[in-house]
Amino acid sequence: MVALVVSDLHVDATRPEIAQQFCDFLAGEARTAAALYVLGDLFEAWVGDDDPDPHRRAAARALGALSARGTALYFMHGNRDFLLGERFCEMTGGKLLVDPTLVERHGRRVLLTHGDALCIDDAPYQRLRALVREPRWQRQFLALSVTQREMLAEEARAGSKAHTAGQIPMLMDVNAGAVAHAFRDAGVETILHGHTHRPGVYAHAVDGTPRTRIVTGDWYTQGSLLSWDDGGLRLEALPRA
Ligand code: MN
Repeated sequence: MVALVVSDLHVDATRPEIAQQFCDFLAGEARTAAALYVLGDLFEAWVGDDDPDPHRRAAARALGALSARGTALYFMHGNRDFLLGERFCEMTGGKLLVDPTLVERHGRRVLLTHGDALCIDDAPYQRLRALVREPRWQRQFLALSVTQREMLAEEARAGSKAHTAGQIPMLMDVNAGAVAHAFRDAGVETILHGHTHRPGVYAHAVDGTPRTRIVTGDWYTQGSLLSWDDGGLRLEALPRA
């Protein structure tokens, strides 16, 4: 049976069409899969497992319905939803994977990662990433009221937008050295990630061996889906109905 991989849905109230397409996907094609991997940024923001946003909660319910039917669900944190926690996993029947995780299926070993850890040219972002992953920072943040957390998340999004807009596009993509290191370290021929919103199949040569980096895209204007079965890995766009 096929395994499916998606990332960067960025579900939230301002883009109901994404939540709709994703819920349709979960109630349709996803049911044929043995496993569904969500490689981060499922949500535009997630301020804690008590996040009240109705679109995000609808997506969580649809994920729960899928896993209840027997599709194994796996989540990885993105830079937007790094606070997905145990209660979210209970809500959806899914399991959180550490970033990166090596997965073996259909005779292939593939390294799964959100992808932001490979973008080391963006130093200010990497500092922020390290901070918000500290247990102490997370405890302090989660102790705030939902309203306070939502306000801070909104400020962070605005700051992130301003930061991204002011960057040279190359600095926002993966760093070639970090990619080579990840291939070498994991001893794999294939890395699968999202985050950069540059869907495609990229060829790399590391230590004289050809390697492949497959990037799933965002769902802003259409869906992006990676299918993995005995035939290999295929990346496709899902047109919006
Ligand atoms: Mn991301």
